[in-house]
Amino acid sequence: MTAAYDFDLFVIGGGSGGVRAARIAASHGARVALAEEYRVGGTCVIRGCVPKKLFLYAARFADAFEDAVGFGWDPGSPRFDWPTLVANKDREIQRQSDAYVRNLNTSGASIFYSRAEILDSHTIRIVAEGRTVTTRYIMVATGGHPRLDPTIPGIEHAITSNEIFDLPALPRSLAIAGGGYVAVEFASIMTGLGVKTTLIHRGLEILRGFDNECRNVMHNAMAERGIDIHTGEFFTSIEKRGDRLVAETSARTLEVDQILFAIGRVPNTLGFGLVEAGVDLDAYGAIVVDEDSRSSVENIFAVGDVTNRLNLTPVAIREGHAVADTLFGGKPRRADHRNVPTAVFAEPELASVGLTEEDAKATLHAVDIYRTFFTPLMNTLSGRKEKTLMKLVVDARTDRVVGVHIVGPGAAEMVQLAAIAVKMNATKADFDQTVALHPTAAEELVTISKPTERFRKPADAPAGVGSDP
Ligand code: NDP
Repeated sequence: MTAAYDFDLFVIGGGSGGVRAARIAASHGARVALAEEYRVGGTCVIRGCVPKKLFLYAARFADAFEDAVGFGWDPGSPRFDWPTLVANKDREIQRQSDAYVRNLNTSGASIFYSRAEILDSHTIRIVAEGRTVTTRYIMVATGGHPRLDPTIPGIEHAITSNEIFDLPALPRSLAIAGGGYVAVEFASIMTGLGVKTTLIHRGLEILRGFDNECRNVMHNAMAERGIDIHTGEFFTSIEKRGDRLVAETSARTLEVDQILFAIGRVPNTLGFGLVEAGVDLDAYGAIVVDEDSRSSVENIFAVGDVTNRLNLTPVAIREGHAVADTLFGGKPRRADHRNVPTAVFAEPELASVGLTEEDAKATLHAVDIYRTFFTPLMNTLSGRKEKTLMKLVVDARTDRVVGVHIVGPGAAEMVQLAAIAVKMNATKADFDQTVALHPTAAEELVTISKPTERFRKPADAPAGVGSDP
């Protein structure tokens, strides 16, 4: 690479996407710098996926203690201690953040613990050091931040997913705004930890974008677990009264200890010279990129949530890796955004890959649905009423399994594996040829023999997309 610049690649943002790009670019021999103004690891490690999953494990002990009784155990009167969980979580995320730093150092990338500002498309100001450096390429991997609704009086009293991991005390009651990943996951976590939880969602059903039947099963199961879910409703004001919050929604008055707003995230694109350098943003403030993650400025790339494509950690990692390989590895490639598996780590768990039943019916001519809704073996002795839903969406013209959707214990683990089959264009016949592993819940995926529904579009219907030839 040319020595006309101090660096070949300057990455702004030390989250999953940025760190992967920096590490891979450095391993290809590029001179790489990465700037992070907060903590290396990004949202996922510091205040997202990782602590969330740890908190979910904590919450699930509530089920374990209850379920144990049917198996002959007397768990006594278990007590939960919030400060212990928070402190242990902090230790683990510090360990993971340190590992990110170590990997960066080993790769040879330089780390600046500073805010970075783009002065022009080849010049970066390292704010903490008061100096500028030059670079051939810039990668923006600054992620996003939780959105709050500033039109709601008293919104400053609400917290977001940034704060909830570190509350000094576990609230006795919590109201949540939103019906997406964060709202549903925290409703489950907090309920499991014994917090009286109310979920207020503006839409008619939670978890928009997932398979409709799964959404419905999730809603019912969460309500059965004691979460007070109100749909078609929204917050109108919040007031602080002593150490309590009193909120008005469009339908009721709520008095709670804390209010969590989980209404989406906003890309971090303002205030560090992006627009001034000529980088185009879309209507949501996200960086517009092409399939190579290249922005409107030829040498500025962007990966991860800041581009608002598929806002998932493993996708950001793939995007960062692809850019590094393309620019410095002599291996031009693109991140593939098709058939990305995803999960809602709630109780119950929901996981999904590929087309929903609704997507398939809208885009394919012939769709077979294979579905089962059963009581898992574990629940026979535990007495828990919750059932597991499994659904295969099959393109009946090609026999390809184009979607797998599961609600129930282990859903995410199962869908991760099923996603390999979907990605390989496996057919329903391939699933059928696979011998069941008994007794498991996953065996249902290879033993549903008859479609529960055969959907056929009229012959003159317009051709769809998806896996249709
Ligand atoms: P989501 O986009 O998942 O959900 C936002 C929710 O807020 C939706 O239910 C939406 O309703 C609602 N909403 C949006 N605007 C308003 C508003 N003005 N007033 C009231 N409600 C509103 O965002 P999250 O905050 O839950 O999560 C952010 C992102 O983080 C996700 O998109 C996901 O990419 C990522 N994430 C992934 C996780 C995982 O992989 N397990 C876990 C947590 C987060 P409507 O449906 O009507 O639009």
